Amino acid sequence: QKQTAIITGASSGLGLNAAKALAATGEWHVVMACRDFLKAEQAAQKVGMPAGSYSILHLDLSSLESVRQFVQNFKASGRRLDALVCNAAVYLPTAKEPRFTADGFELSVGTNHLGHFLLTNLLLDDLKNAPNKQPRCIIVGSITGNTNTLAGNVPPKANLGDLSGFAAGVPAANPMMDGQEFNGAKAYKDSKVACMMTVRQMHQRFHDATGVTFASLYPGCIAETGLFREHVPLFKTLFPPFQKYITKGYVSEEEAGRRLAAVISDPKLNKSGAYWSWSSSTGSFDNQVSEEVADDAKAAKLWEISSKLVGLS
Ligand code: NDP
Repeated sequence: QKQTAIITGASSGLGLNAAKALAATGEWHVVMACRDFLKAEQAAQKVGMPAGSYSILHLDLSSLESVRQFVQNFKASGRRLDALVCNAAVYLPTAKEPRFTADGFELSVGTNHLGHFLLTNLLLDDLKNAPNKQPRCIIVGSITGNTNTLAGNVPPKANLGDLSGFAAGVPAANPMMDGQEFNGAKAYKDSKVACMMTVRQMHQRFHDATGVTFASLYPGCIAETGLFREHVPLFKTLFPPFQKYITKGYVSEEEAGRRLAAVISDPKLNKSGAYWSWSSSTGSFDNQVSEEVADDAKAAKLWEISSKLVGLS
């Protein structure tokens, strides 16, 4: 059997292009973990992924029951597991009202963080036994988790505050992690900060005992992906040229996919606890995270609450 990577949200954008890049090596089989089977199949064919280089397994991260079912189905498939890539995300920057997962969590935090939190915990044992002997668990981060750049400082900035809303399960009555008023753009950023804190916790808790490499990355601004589907039309027109010519943070979907594929498979990018970024002069480098992401006491609290919310403790 070829090395196998599970990639969530591989039906478009970054996940699809990483799947394509991995499959093209001929050394990897990609399990596309997607909520829309037909869309994923059509996407894989459109980018020319060879038949047999991928399979599609249903996963809806906005339902913990679906996450558990996915893990059961994956285990039953008998496939080996060498890399788990938590890539799927929703971004609701124009939402006036919060939306919720099947379990009643605010949708961005519930999908981007809690769904992946359960998934990674349930698959950790399989990863530990990876036949390729260099297993990786990658959770896609965001520039909002590193404040040493202009884009990382654009308001509303991520801030998990005292985690009071999160401790309550980000429900309808209290949908933000910091317990403040709902803001869709901030909810996304908070969820990504939670993802990056989780990677650091996993590294500290499990790396030495399991040998699994845990890492996060910011692949660059991929201004044309479906992530911005909920944004106003003018934004969608102006954002790509703005990123290309003003901030120069723009990266094509294909290049971003190659970057993620490298973090999954390149022997040089095997550092656990790393947060990969790219610069035009030096290529990949282990970037500094924001003060909040580096707050390990807060991350430990986030971990405990996350475990309770997804029913692991
Ligand atoms: P896309 O919207 O193109 O891709 C997001 C993927 O997530 C889609 O495949 C989508 O599925 C999937 N998804 C959403 N909700 C669920 C769910 N409930 N269950 C399963 N899958 C789900 O956006 P990107 O490719 O841009 O985003 C990929 C990652 O990159 C995200 O983690 C994002 O935060 C990150 N990122 C993106 C940047 C950018 O500039 N675009 C910059 C930095 C990070 P479906 O096709 O069915 O909608």
